Amino acid sequence: MKAIQVSEPGKIDIIEKDMPEIKENHQVLIKVKAVGICGSDMHIYHGTNPMATYPRIIGHEFSGEVKEMGSKVSDLNIGDKVVIEPIQFCGKCYACKSGRSNVCESLKVLGVHKDGGMQEYIVVPRKKVHKIDNSIEWEKASMVEPFTIAAQSTWRGNVKKGDYVLIMGAGPIGLGILQYSKYKGAICIVSDINDEKLGLAKELGADYIVNVTYKDIVKETLKITNNMGANVTIDTACLPRTFEQCVEVTSPAGRVVVLGFSEETSNIPQVLITKKELTIVGSRLETDKFPEVIDLFNKGILNPEYLLTHKFDFKDIKEAIKAIEDPNTKTNKVVVTF
Ligand SMILES: [Zn+2]
Ligand SMILES: [Zn+2]
Repeated sequence: MKAIQVSEPGKIDIIEKDMPEIKENHQVLIKVKAVGICGSDMHIYHGTNPMATYPRIIGHEFSGEVKEMGSKVSDLNIGDKVVIEPIQFCGKCYACKSGRSNVCESLKVLGVHKDGGMQEYIVVPRKKVHKIDNSIEWEKASMVEPFTIAAQSTWRGNVKKGDYVLIMGAGPIGLGILQYSKYKGAICIVSDINDEKLGLAKELGADYIVNVTYKDIVKETLKITNNMGANVTIDTACLPRTFEQCVEVTSPAGRVVVLGFSEETSNIPQVLITKKELTIVGSRLETDKFPEVIDLFNKGILNPEYLLTHKFDFKDIKEAIKAIEDPNTKTNKVVVTF
C-alpha cells in the first residue's frame, strides 16, 4: 500500500509500505478516505515543527471506513464511516489525572510523533475511533478534528451567550472558532489582513470584520464594544504583537486564549493583567471534544464545507502543497483523498 512520507525536512514522497495488521484485540483497521492538510503538517514538511521526528507519515485530520476489527471490538460494524482522534496519552500523569490528557507529559500525536493518516490503511485503538453520520462526505468528515480545536479554544475562553468575542485570524481555525462562537451565542469580531477571508467570515456570521492592514484592531474593537473591550479574545494569528494586542483589547474580567507555538517574546505589562484581572490561557489540541463536534456536524449546525476549497488525489500531494504555498491560489482547507 501507499503512504505520504516526509523523510526529512523539505522532502515529501509517496512510499510503498506493508499493510498494517491488527495485533491487539481492541484495535481497528481503517481504510483512510480523506485527510486535511494542516499548518502543522506544513511545518513538519519545512522542518519547523520542533515536536516532529523523521521520517514521518503526516496527517492528523482524517476520516475513513472500518475494514476490520479486533475480537474485543463489538460496537462497530465493517463499513462504518468514522473519524479518528489523533492523540494518545498515558492516563497516569498529573495532566491526564486532571482531565487534561491533551497536554499529557508523554503525549503522542498521530502524524507528528507517530505515523499519521496519510496512508491507505491505519490501525488505531477502538477508543480513538468515532462514528459519524453516513450522510457526511469524507472530506467534510476530515474537518471534525480542526473543529475540535475550535471547540477547545471556545471552551478554554469560556465563551458565553452575549459575549463579545474577538477572533484574530480568518484561516480555517479562526473561521471554525467563529462558527463555534456563533453557535454559543456570542457577538463576533474577526480580524485578518485578507479581504477575501474576511468576506467569508462575514458570510459565516461574523458581526464585524476588521482588516488590520488599514485599521488598528484595538481602536476598532473599543469602538465596536463602546469602550468595554472584547470579553474573550482568541489569537489564531499567533504573532508576538497580536498577543500584546489581545491583552490590551480584552475587557475587565475577560479571557485571552492563545494557540501559538512561537518562541518569540511579547512585551506585556503586568498592570493590564492585574488591573483587569484577565485570565490568559493556552489552548492545545482538544479534550474529549470529538463527540460534541460530530453531533454538531450530524445536525448540520456547523458548516465545514465553507472552509473546504481544494481537493487533490493523494498521489498529487506535491501539487496540493504547491497550491497551499502559492499566494495566487486562494486556499483555505486543502484535503487529499485516498
Ligand atoms: Zn491540524
Ligand atoms: Zn499523561
